[in-house]
Amino acid sequence: MTGCPITEIQWSAYRVPTDEPESDGTLEWDSTTMIVVHARGADEIGMGFGYASQAAGNVIGSILSESVRGISALDIPAAWEAMVHGVRNQGRLGITAAAVSAVDLALWDLKGKIIGRSVAELLGSTRHSVEVYGSGGFTSYSDDRLVDQLTGWSGQGVTKVKMKIGRGRGVERVAVARSALHDSVEIYVDANGAYRRKQALAVAYELAPLGVTWFEEPVDHRDLEGLRQLRERGPAGMDMTVGEYGYDLTQLQNLLTAPAVDVLMADCTRCGGITGWLRAAAAAQAHHVPISSHTAPSAHVAAGCAAPNAMHLEYFHDHARIENMLLDGAPAIENGALTPDRSRPGLGYALKESDAKKFRL
Ligand SMILES: [Mg+2]
Repeated sequence: MTGCPITEIQWSAYRVPTDEPESDGTLEWDSTTMIVVHARGADEIGMGFGYASQAAGNVIGSILSESVRGISALDIPAAWEAMVHGVRNQGRLGITAAAVSAVDLALWDLKGKIIGRSVAELLGSTRHSVEVYGSGGFTSYSDDRLVDQLTGWSGQGVTKVKMKIGRGRGVERVAVARSALHDSVEIYVDANGAYRRKQALAVAYELAPLGVTWFEEPVDHRDLEGLRQLRERGPAGMDMTVGEYGYDLTQLQNLLTAPAVDVLMADCTRCGGITGWLRAAAAAQAHHVPISSHTAPSAHVAAGCAAPNAMHLEYFHDHARIENMLLDGAPAIENGALTPDRSRPGLGYALKESDAKKFRL
């Protein structure tokens, strides 16, 4: 293809310690790895990123950089197909999907810079800003830290806050949060697949009187039948949600057809970048289901404004912190929402190389 050939793809990885050791219902961690991609073409450089193991970088360097070389940076669908074709023998889910996603984001940023428009303008918007919900509330937090974090978000106009459950004092901690938050603030919970089906159902009915309106990954995300049952038998007004491990459109579509979700979650750093995320949004719309993003708030802002059925974006503590530290132009919460910078070509942010250097792997 002619036009503006992609000439080079480079990647780098950064491991950033968390501000304290963290855990959810099924995992503990103390650092986060960010993969950064720079794509060159037509004398411009586009930047994408994602949160994945350094192994995703190896996929980019050893396979994807060759897959997209020479394709026009204006033809992102062609580059996307070439990448998916290129990873066929590695398996296209998991690490390889994270790699494809980071490159897709870099190509959107590059295309915006070549054309001189923001990605929000390239995609077109259905809304000026997109609502966020605050997300953190790790099971490792003290009650004081939990309350500080959740009330901190509600003080910024955020009307929904999410906390982890599934280990330790699950429902009791939610009650602590409830007593600290204004009645109008909805509490979301995420069990990260910690419960069995009947346990999850019992927990759902204990949580309902506390104003919990979102129960994420109550059981293993692969248990589509269990999710379907919980969706049908759970309390009225409580959305059952999964989708963060949806690495391609087929996996996400399976959640919709089960039907396993009241709201489809999808992560553009896993499900194929902005290209994949908007396809997931369209699939959800065909099922009359809203979509909400998973983590990586800066990466989702433009797409969240574009998709008619976008409900909100997850403002995940770990990633919001890293994006504020390492991305120049990371959007900040205003009145409970994020707004893409439409005055800046591309995605509107860039890596702060000097600040990132000390975390580089
Ligand atoms: Mg989750």
